[in-house]
Amino acid sequence: GRRIGGRYEILSRLGEGGMAIVYKAKDLILDRLVAVKVLRTELAGDEEFIKRFHREAESVASLSHPNIVAIYDIGEEEDCYYIVMEYIHGMSLKEFIRDYSPISISESVHIMKQVTLAIAHAHAHGIVHRDIKPHNILIDESEHVKVTDFGIAMAVSSATITYTHSILGSAHYLSPEQARGGKATVKSDIYSLGIVMFELITGRLPFPGTSPVSVALKHLSEPMPFPRDFRPDMPQSLENVMIRALAKVPLDRYKNVVAMYDDLKTALSPERADEKRLILDS
Ligand code: ATP
Ligand code: MG
Ligand code: MG
Repeated sequence: GRRIGGRYEILSRLGEGGMAIVYKAKDLILDRLVAVKVLRTELAGDEEFIKRFHREAESVASLSHPNIVAIYDIGEEEDCYYIVMEYIHGMSLKEFIRDYSPISISESVHIMKQVTLAIAHAHAHGIVHRDIKPHNILIDESEHVKVTDFGIAMAVSSATITYTHSILGSAHYLSPEQARGGKATVKSDIYSLGIVMFELITGRLPFPGTSPVSVALKHLSEPMPFPRDFRPDMPQSLENVMIRALAKVPLDRYKNVVAMYDDLKTALSPERADEKRLILDS
């Protein structure tokens, strides 16, 4: 079969997204399966993009966490840029939601705890994910979750470059401030986590439209539907986690992902059984 970088033998195609195609491959030197993400050739000519691609891949490669897909190698050959990652035998959370909804409340919490741990780890290292969505969350048969594609992530401290909106993730997971054109922050990642959680538990998006502009406008100005209206068996304490993550005003959201994780951890405990629906001030 076709080889990339001399040592990665392409076995099959796993999927593709806006920026790249992902292949299942075999690392012939270490004799193990890997996933190779190959950048679209249309993008390979864009100097600025390539620089960013390398910088981001390097920063993400430094992250090491059980809930983050490991990056093994970054390379280029003949105008073809690629990232070699840990191969996850499983599916994306998008497919998982499509195939298994309704997902039990305890399973949903088990999944969200792992996702929040991954993002909290990245934040602790100055990396904002920027593109949190179910496509970028992989899950294996034992329900071990790994977050990938810190594709447009970058160090918070150097967040000065502006991005063209065309490469930004799906509008469905964008926070109001990002929809307004603002830069991604820890707070916007928290909002995206809230949308993922909404979709995981209710099996649907809060604003299911198709046009990115109309969806973005709804995130900006339409009140968030109450997830419990679609999933009445969920405890109020768990809906409150979503209300707190999905606040339109960043100040009303969790101050960091660790706070969201801590809240998720206790959400199903009997002590929180008579919690009232959270009402935000702003
Ligand atoms: P976007 O480009 O907007 O981020 P996307 O996330 O769906 O969209 P890719 O990141 O290119 O696109 O990934 C395509 C698909 O490849 C994923 O949905 C997933 O099913 C699969 N995939 C990605 N990384 C891995 C991996 N490490 N192991 C196994 N499968 C993977
Ligand atoms: Mg991608
Ligand atoms: Mg992806």
